[in-house]
Amino acid sequence: MTVVLVTGGSRGIGAAAAVALAADGWDVGIGYRSRKDEAAKVAKAVEDQGRRAVAVQGDVTEPEDIERLFTEVTEALGPLKAVINNAGIVSPSGRVDEYDAERLDTVFRTNAISAFLVAGAAVRRMSTKYGADGGVIVNVSSRAAVLGSAGEYVDYAASKAAVDALTIGLANEVAKEGIRVLGVRPGLIETDIHEPGRLDRLGTTPPLGRPGKPEEVAELIAFLASSRSSYMTGTTIDVSGGR
Ligand code: NAP
Repeated sequence: MTVVLVTGGSRGIGAAAAVALAADGWDVGIGYRSRKDEAAKVAKAVEDQGRRAVAVQGDVTEPEDIERLFTEVTEALGPLKAVINNAGIVSPSGRVDEYDAERLDTVFRTNAISAFLVAGAAVRRMSTKYGADGGVIVNVSSRAAVLGSAGEYVDYAASKAAVDALTIGLANEVAKEGIRVLGVRPGLIETDIHEPGRLDRLGTTPPLGRPGKPEEVAELIAFLASSRSSYMTGTTIDVSGGR
């Protein structure tokens, strides 16, 4: 294993994934939007495991930033063999009849359009069609894509359903180009993405009776990125405590 890029690697699930991947032997490029200090801490945690790390600022809603992110990580660490398509946001709680176009533009741009752009950039760097050796793309979806998130953020759920379709379609496009495309669908996970009080309110609702930890999603991401999942592509796995 060699080099992996994790978008949204400064916090939460992405930060835990960076550390889990380093434990598996990967050198890690850490993408982040604004929290430079947090990203630097994750880079240090990777280096503490004897692996190389670089943290690169970039907004995944900006196509030029995505290209620069890939270029800087590749220049610092070498050719990519995996990309974890993880950066994402939720919308404020609300019903569909309250949404405006600006809100919808923000959530679809950040979660769905950026996931396509990051995946496309990954294919251009890892596909045998482009002279590379292949690799793995892991898309971070959400159980919301299946449950719909009524009364909270149906737009977020729909943006993640787009990610699930990306996983299936792209996997079929690039299966013969050395690239496997997989997804994870986390449930309620203890990160800062939630509005205040949401974890307390919903934390015991999964059948396992508690929210998940970012590390529990990271383990699945590391497995999917590795050759241990070598006969898997085009599928998305739930990691959601049973709901
Ligand atoms: P988080 O703790 O809020 O972290 C979000 C990460 O994404 C941060 O590293 C942030 O960078 C980065 N980011 C956000 N917008 C960005 C942008 N426009 N450009 C570049 N980076 C951006 O979130 P999380 O809970 O770990 O979520 C990670 C992924 O898991 C998301 O796709 C989310 O939808 C999904 N997910 C989470 C849960 C959950 O319960 N937590 C459940 C299902 C799915 P900065 O630190 O610089 O802001």
